[in-house]
Amino acid sequence: MNTRKKGLAQLKFGKRELKKFGAFVSITAMSLTLLAGCNFSSPSIKTAQAKEEKPLLIQGAMQIEVESFLKKLKHVKVEESGDFVFYRGTIDQYPVILAKTGKGMENAAACTAVAIEHYHPKAIINEGTAGGHDPNLRVFDIVLGKKTVNMGSFITEIKGKNEGIHPTQWRPMDLMAADGSEINPDSAKIRYYKGDKDLLAAADAVKDQYKKGKVTEGTIGSSDVWNNEMDRIQWFHDKFGTSAEEMEGFAQAQIADEYHIPFLDIRIISNNLTNGGQYNPNTAVSCQDYVYHVVKKYISENK
Ligand code: SAH
Repeated sequence: MNTRKKGLAQLKFGKRELKKFGAFVSITAMSLTLLAGCNFSSPSIKTAQAKEEKPLLIQGAMQIEVESFLKKLKHVKVEESGDFVFYRGTIDQYPVILAKTGKGMENAAACTAVAIEHYHPKAIINEGTAGGHDPNLRVFDIVLGKKTVNMGSFITEIKGKNEGIHPTQWRPMDLMAADGSEINPDSAKIRYYKGDKDLLAAADAVKDQYKKGKVTEGTIGSSDVWNNEMDRIQWFHDKFGTSAEEMEGFAQAQIADEYHIPFLDIRIISNNLTNGGQYNPNTAVSCQDYVYHVVKKYISENK
C-alpha cells in the first residue's frame, strides 16, 4: 500500500515557526490584496475552502477490527499520535478517518478525544466485536447501539470485615451527574448515551444488505471486564437492558457527547455464552463490511 507516515506531533508548530508562519500569512495576505487590485480573483482558494468537509471518524479497537475496512479506503495516509493510528482516506470522495484505538475504555476515550481535536469529525461510528447478553442474538448478528451504558461504574454497599463481596447490591454511579465528591442522589442513576438518530437511520436503511445474520437495535454495555459468569450477564441484562457487552463504546459515546458530536456504536456478536455461541474472530470482517454500507449511505445523505 502506498501510504505516507507522519506523526501528529510533527504537525504541531513551535513558537518560532508560528512567528514565521504569521509573517508568511501577512505577506500572503498582502500579495492577495495586490492580486485582487490587479483584478485577479482567487476562485481556487474559495473552492478549496468550500470543499473542505468534516470527515467521518470510524473506530475499531483491534487490528482485526480495522484491517478490512482499511482496504476500502482510497488515497490513504497514515498518521500516529502516541500508540493511536489514524488512516486518513476517502470513500466516495468523502474524507474518512479510520482510527485504531486499542482495547479498553481508557484507550477508547483518549483516542476519541485526540481524533476530535485533530480532525473535527462530523460524526463518529465505533464498530467491532461483542459478547451477547441476549440468547436471541446469534454469533454474526449485529447490534446497533440505540443506547450505550457503563457497566463498570458502581458504588458498593458498606460492609464490614468478613461480610463478603456482594456485586448484585452495587448501585450504579453516574460519574457525570455531579462535580462534587460527596454522594449525590443524582449520581445513583445509571447513565445511558443515545445513539445518533441520523446514523441509526443510515444503519437501519442498509440492514437488508447484511446477509450473515440479523441487524437489531439494542443497548450495548461497556467496561474493562470480559464477563463469563452467566448470572452476572443475566443481572446486567435484567437490570440495565444490555443486549451485548464490549470494552469501548460507552467511553467513546461519553467523549463524543462532551464535544457534541453524533455517535453510534455498531457491534457484531462474536461470542454469546447465553446460547453457547463460540468466539469467532471472523465476525470482525463481516461487521466492517456492513459498516462500509452504513458509511456510504450516511455520506450519500449527509454530503
Ligand atoms: N480474543 C481476544 C479478546 C480481545 S479482548 C484476545 O484474546 O486478545 C476484548 C476485545 O474484544 C475488546 O476490544 C472488546 O470490545 C471486544 N469483546 C468481544 N467480546 C467481548 C466480551 N464478551 N466481553 C468484553 N469484550 C468483548
